[in-house]
Amino acid sequence: MRFKYFLVFSIILLAHVGAGVWYSGYAWWWTLITLLFLLGILVLGCMNIRWNFFLRSTNRVPLSIQQLRTGTKPVALTFDDGPHENTLKVLDILKAEGVQATFFIIGHQIAGKEHILQRIKDEGHLIGNHTYAHNGAFYWQPARQMKEDILRCNEQIKAATGLSSNIFRPPFGVTNPNLAKALDSLEMQSVGWTLRSLDTVAKDPGALLNKILKNVRSNNTILLHDPCAITVDILPELIAKLKEKGMTFGFPVAMA
Ligand SMILES: [Zn+2]
Repeated sequence: MRFKYFLVFSIILLAHVGAGVWYSGYAWWWTLITLLFLLGILVLGCMNIRWNFFLRSTNRVPLSIQQLRTGTKPVALTFDDGPHENTLKVLDILKAEGVQATFFIIGHQIAGKEHILQRIKDEGHLIGNHTYAHNGAFYWQPARQMKEDILRCNEQIKAATGLSSNIFRPPFGVTNPNLAKALDSLEMQSVGWTLRSLDTVAKDPGALLNKILKNVRSNNTILLHDPCAITVDILPELIAKLKEKGMTFGFPVAMA
């Protein structure tokens, strides 16, 4: 991915600056500034899933030729961090509105909530993997341990629904080379987003709704969180307003 180009660029830049310091009398701190600059890009590459820095993620809703011909404006509603009691409320709203969505599930939360996963499946929504542990320590592990964590979540999803999930959403949208290796060996597809609602930190339902509606575009994958009460509160109006804009609801990945 872009990380490889970044490495080549870094080597060339550092060689250039090093030669300047050694032969042309540049101040030594130019090397430090260059290193900090490169480190900054590296950190941004880790934090921004849309950069496709370490691995390729599907960030926007793929359009079929049929949809291109008919001018359809699909968006994908994606809900992270369930299953949760509020997931049932989200499912009720989606059912009432006749809308399909995608749920990225945290493995360790499944025990005792298998019925919620069953309902997600039975009502035609898509289920994805959002790690078993879902914590910051996930990213400090070697690829082998990351793979074990992701597999553990897949096993829980399969035990609850009989489904094998092959889509994965990185927690917090963070990626790194070990995650790229782990997903590659599991042949799983990373799914990002194009519109981050920041519903986990939102306080004002009206402001949250307006922000999403102001920024939403055709083919957007919208990141929401089903455990958030504020998300449940705005969901009926969000769906109604998206329908008014002529938008339809699909999945964030191409379906076979
Ligand atoms: Zn999450």
